[in-house]
Amino acid sequence: MTRPSVPLGDLMKRAGFLLPRSVLLRLRGARDLGLGLWYRGRGRWCPVCGWSSRRFRPGGTVARQDAKCPRCGALERHRFIWLYLAQRTDLFDGRPKRVLHVAPEQCFERRLKDRLGAGYLTADLRDPHVMERMDITGIRYPDESFDVIYCSHVLEHVPDDRRAMREFHRVLKPSGWAILLVPITLDRTFEDPTIVRPADRLRVFGQKDHVRRYGPDYVDRLQNAGFKVQVTRVSDMIAADEAARMGISRTGAIYHCTKA
Ligand SMILES: [Zn+2]
Repeated sequence: MTRPSVPLGDLMKRAGFLLPRSVLLRLRGARDLGLGLWYRGRGRWCPVCGWSSRRFRPGGTVARQDAKCPRCGALERHRFIWLYLAQRTDLFDGRPKRVLHVAPEQCFERRLKDRLGAGYLTADLRDPHVMERMDITGIRYPDESFDVIYCSHVLEHVPDDRRAMREFHRVLKPSGWAILLVPITLDRTFEDPTIVRPADRLRVFGQKDHVRRYGPDYVDRLQNAGFKVQVTRVSDMIAADEAARMGISRTGAIYHCTKA
């Protein structure tokens, strides 16, 4: 069976900044239901939306096979992050929390808003659909404002990522925690601020709007910003057969930051 072509998805991506939020959500809902039904089956299960499918859709900036949940759009890392949030944090314990979600992923945003209520804040530098425009290198909130900060695959776009990390540390409450994730694609972090042309950034950093590639020494940057970092790998949490059923790469890791 061949994959259905979904011109609606491409159209929505381009028009997403122009359409009213309510229209966009309705279109997305119809698309996701249709894709979910098309892919319905038994081989894969998504822990974010609970949908079973015969396989996942191709997904990712450089498309990977069997990557994206057809029902909610969650990629491999999203499925692991959701399990981690549910099983290893107090995020869903029902107690009120002030939660900052930077550059919210579509597959998480509505679910988190529904579960976290009034304390949930989405923020982004450019996306007009978030609750608040925010430059994470200059967060306009007082010290110790948030119980939880979640920011995934953003810092690799930020020229002064160390400053953003210090800002996250500043606005996090002493008892709070932050999940700050980046793609780890090298043995050691590499950046070169003289590389600015999109084509050069694509060639060197893997994406035209990335400004560096991170290595495992990413942890050192977080620690230098004042965080205590606990790294949890997929293999620490999920058996191999379960990870395969959920389409989660065994090499993924969560960087859980608290105030040292
Ligand atoms: Zn899903």
